[in-house]
Amino acid sequence: MSSKRLIFLGPPGAGKGTQAKFLSEEANIPHISTGDILRTAIDTGTPLGQKAQSYVDAGELVPNDLILDLISERLQKPDAQLGWILDGFPRNLKQAQFLDEILKDLNQHSVCILNLEVPEEELVSRLLKRHRQDDNEVTIRHRLEVYHEETEPLIDFYSDRTVHSVNGNRPLQEVTAALKEIVEAS
Ligand code: ADP
Repeated sequence: MSSKRLIFLGPPGAGKGTQAKFLSEEANIPHISTGDILRTAIDTGTPLGQKAQSYVDAGELVPNDLILDLISERLQKPDAQLGWILDGFPRNLKQAQFLDEILKDLNQHSVCILNLEVPEEELVSRLLKRHRQDDNEVTIRHRLEVYHEETEPLIDFYSDRTVHSVNGNRPLQEVTAALKEIVEAS
């Protein structure tokens, strides 16, 4: 893969985590999932986890001040200097602007923006099968609303760059192949 800094947009349940994991193993670059970081913090009861838990359980975004420093520190670590895959960040306008600032400071200019598209009812059905603690129907519907309000507008925010939209409503390997093709060409 030639492009080594990837941002995954797309709604909950679109397969961002699964695809990000494949691509990160393939390219040997870290998969940075804010959802995974938060769940680990909650499970181990760290101060971050204690502050984040009620938001995650309710399907709300956790406040930006809990996320921004964390991402900034993570992207400055040695293993992130040759590339990374961001999954679940940025999720609102403020986070996207902050990421641009960090990347400017780190002199990392090119990023490949991927957007996984899956119809809403397929998302709900996938999430209901997942049995994660925050995957009950009420929370799922709320996370989708939050996605439409806060995260989907990032497609416009990035309209001065290329957003590569990929149909995520097909077998996993086909999605992976389509993503690899884009990443290799970008
Ligand atoms: P999903 O994409 O299925 O919603 P994630 O693992 O990406 O799952 O996120 C789970 C939860 O973690 C979100 O509902 C939200 O509460 C929190 N979260 C994850 N990333 C962020 C972020 N960048 N900003 C704010 N909250 C976040």
